Amino acid sequence: MSETESEGALRKNIDAVRTIVRTVKSTLGPMGRDKMMVDAGGNSITTNDGATILGELDVSHPGGKMVIECAQTQESLCYDGTTTTVVLAGELLSNSEGLLNKGLHPNVVCKGYNDAARMAVEYLDDFLSGEDEKPLENIARTAITGKTVDAALDEVSNLCVQAVKKAGSAEKVRTLSLQGGSLRDSYLFNGAIVNKDIVHEKEMDGDYNIILLNTGLEPEKTEENVQVQLDMQGYTQFKSSSKDDLLEQAKLICTWLPTGGLVFIRDGAHDSVCAYLEKNEISVVRRLPESTMRALSGTLGLLTAQTPSDIECSASGTVVKQRHNDVNYLFVEGEVESTQSTLVLRGATTTTLDETERGFDDALGVVSLVMKGDKTVTGGGSTYAAMASHLRSEAASVSGRPQMAIEAFADALESIPATIAENGGQDPLDCILALRHEIQSGRFNFGPDLENEGICDMEKLGVFEPMSLVRQVVLGANEVTTAILKIDDMIAMRGE
Ligand code: ADP
Ligand code: MG
Repeated sequence: MSETESEGALRKNIDAVRTIVRTVKSTLGPMGRDKMMVDAGGNSITTNDGATILGELDVSHPGGKMVIECAQTQESLCYDGTTTTVVLAGELLSNSEGLLNKGLHPNVVCKGYNDAARMAVEYLDDFLSGEDEKPLENIARTAITGKTVDAALDEVSNLCVQAVKKAGSAEKVRTLSLQGGSLRDSYLFNGAIVNKDIVHEKEMDGDYNIILLNTGLEPEKTEENVQVQLDMQGYTQFKSSSKDDLLEQAKLICTWLPTGGLVFIRDGAHDSVCAYLEKNEISVVRRLPESTMRALSGTLGLLTAQTPSDIECSASGTVVKQRHNDVNYLFVEGEVESTQSTLVLRGATTTTLDETERGFDDALGVVSLVMKGDKTVTGGGSTYAAMASHLRSEAASVSGRPQMAIEAFADALESIPATIAENGGQDPLDCILALRHEIQSGRFNFGPDLENEGICDMEKLGVFEPMSLVRQVVLGANEVTTAILKIDDMIAMRGE
């Protein structure tokens, strides 16, 4: 294969990535613009969230797909920083093109980039991250700024922190978006919210004895393709035995709830069972998702029994029924200290609510990272600028051509604060020069001042983010860039 053919594959990949980067670049930072994405059916999403935009993009190019996968990894590991990863990967690739034009071999660029990424994260670990605890509210605020919640930033950041503290980690916080009201009406509910109604509708509000049940209240499904031949008598016996069995199970529940109560069931419950229980003042909520059962268990401090014969106790709880947009919700609170919390988000339109929920997801995630012991760094791209300066001072000590790659890596890192400034309507070059000047004087915490022009101290502004987020951005973007640089040919594969 000729040199030009192999370069052709690489350049096609670089072009594909460039298109993706162009799509998300203008969303980076608090002043980033939103994207409205519309599909063929006319459905639309309006978002500022890099991960969401990339997830919805119709990308068929393999090089582009690699970058999207890298952003998804960032999202799953660190919850936030997806746009930053894509922008950095795009800059790294663009800069590598300049180096290739100057005659550097892709392998030399890869070596220089790998060395640069290693040096940058070592510097981040050793010098840029602070041990002292930063208010978690600030971490939440940094992640959520710019995500349509600006009008209630303080309330929202507080809610995020409370929710994660209560639940212990972001995964355990459940969110429920209810259309209506404004964001300021959002609150943390110390319990579980079930969006299913009871089988026989009636007024619910009050205290109940509650049982959680997995299965056992509907006839067992017969195996498919099994043929049984029964005469009439046998058939009646077969039918009534399974019915009797179900009735036995229902009676067992009644012995646990002699004065009536409420049963939440993961599986189905036969109508005859529900009717029998109803007669005994026991209401049934059936076919609940696993996650709701877990939330109820945490709220009530009660284990879910496998079948009615495994029930060991009931728990008391308060249930309030609310109706929103024609859907009934049961708000369940226990008497014990709940390990479960549900964020109830309010907003005027589903579009803004969806975007708010995405912002919350990022913020809950980064708060839980820091709560679990991650160090913090200042945001606004300040760390990227500091790492870039460090790389430039180190580059001189590296002999040969990889030195040029290290410098190109430094340039790419600086594009993060530059893009944040540019999206805020400022000049990116002025921002970089001002940041370099501060870093030269030993001030590493400066970033673009989006309120008043120029730059300002991110520490004073309270803009902090988890260190592992920045680390993963640098490593992830480098990994995908070097992987793309190593591809020298694209060959059509025989389909399966
Ligand atoms: P990502 O998808 O990469 O998280 P965002 O659009 O959420 O992209 O932008 C995140 C960047 O915005 C981070 O570098 C963060 O530090 C920065 N940022 C957040 N708040 C501020 C602020 N008040 N001033 C300057 N930069 C900020
Ligand atoms: Mg973000």
